[in-house]
Amino acid sequence: MFFRKKEKKEEPILENDPATKKKYLIQYNRKTCIGSGTCAAVCPSHWVMEESGKAKLINSQFNEETQLFEKRIDETQLADNKVAADGCPPNCIHITNEDTGEKIS
Ligand code: SF4
Repeated sequence: MFFRKKEKKEEPILENDPATKKKYLIQYNRKTCIGSGTCAAVCPSHWVMEESGKAKLINSQFNEETQLFEKRIDETQLADNKVAADGCPPNCIHITNEDTGEKIS
């Protein structure tokens, strides 16, 4: 019996992919996170708290250039992440519309 190994498709995280319409870029500065837990409480599908006490942006990548954790999301994922960003006490979460350059939060 042969088993075919399932290939795991990587999500385009650092590419602005028009096919997936992930035009919103979340940038998270982990260094300034104070561990309030707000983001994980209001947007648990994208944010979790680590044992270290800091937040983790799920499926994000660390960008060496910006020194920030980054992740692209689509329109359907924007509202909850905006609430998380707006509720972050040290303002360490930012969202930008890459199509227009508009700072969402
Ligand atoms: S809301 Fe901001 S400060 Fe609070 S845990 Fe999330 S990222 Fe950290």
